Amino acid sequence: MDEVIAVQAFRDNYIWLAPGPEPGLVAVVDPGDADPVIAALAARGLSPAYVLCTHHHGDHVGGLAALARHYTIPVYGPAAESIPGVTHPVSEGDIVGSEAGGRYRVLAVPGHTRGHVAYVGADRLFCGDTLFVAGCGRLFEGTAFQMHASLTRLASLPPDTRVYCGHEYTLANLAFARAVEPDNAAILAFERRARAKRAANEPTIPSTIADERSINPFLRASEPAVRRAAASMGGRTSDTGAAIFATLRRWKDGFKG
Ligand code: ZN
Ligand code: FE
Repeated sequence: MDEVIAVQAFRDNYIWLAPGPEPGLVAVVDPGDADPVIAALAARGLSPAYVLCTHHHGDHVGGLAALARHYTIPVYGPAAESIPGVTHPVSEGDIVGSEAGGRYRVLAVPGHTRGHVAYVGADRLFCGDTLFVAGCGRLFEGTAFQMHASLTRLASLPPDTRVYCGHEYTLANLAFARAVEPDNAAILAFERRARAKRAANEPTIPSTIADERSINPFLRASEPAVRRAAASMGGRTSDTGAAIFATLRRWKDGFKG
């Protein structure tokens, strides 16, 4: 059973309630809005132990001020970004949470934003807008080289690590993944399951790192089929992983499923 609770916000954001230091106490991940968080906590009789923020975008931190009026709890966020409401700036290698449980290690994963961090613990990854199911975040502040390195790091986490990302973009991402690799049976099978979940109004998230390694084109720049597809779109001949990644990211930016 999955102990992580999805709280829907805005059009396609997820705010995650993750296991905290003890039963009944949760970590609130990326509260872009406070009201749905407060309602979800009340409905389940839960209290927040602390907040984890991945990056400074409003749809991930917009609820901090209102939450601070309700709860006096630590708010962790990337030290390399200035986020009003963050009380405990964190960077690469820091451990957040308590000895008792709900401990998460901080990974610096720049690319979507300059200071973006992810949190990993107990085989769960909270990665904001860096890695999406079958996709990745846009490059707003960082470079393709940085994002490629960040994604490569996440791909090397244990295969059964569950991936909790910030948005329900899965079906659109899979349409692109299919365009890149039309013959990848894992993408087609994953897409069938994802469609069924969306039809039932369920999140397609979490996936696992093993899933992502088999379906996510942005983690598959070293696969011959992905390289060929990128070469046919890119017109450039450089075949470093980062160059393939950059071509895929530009292709996706202009892709209409
Ligand atoms: Zn973002
Ligand atoms: Fe976002």
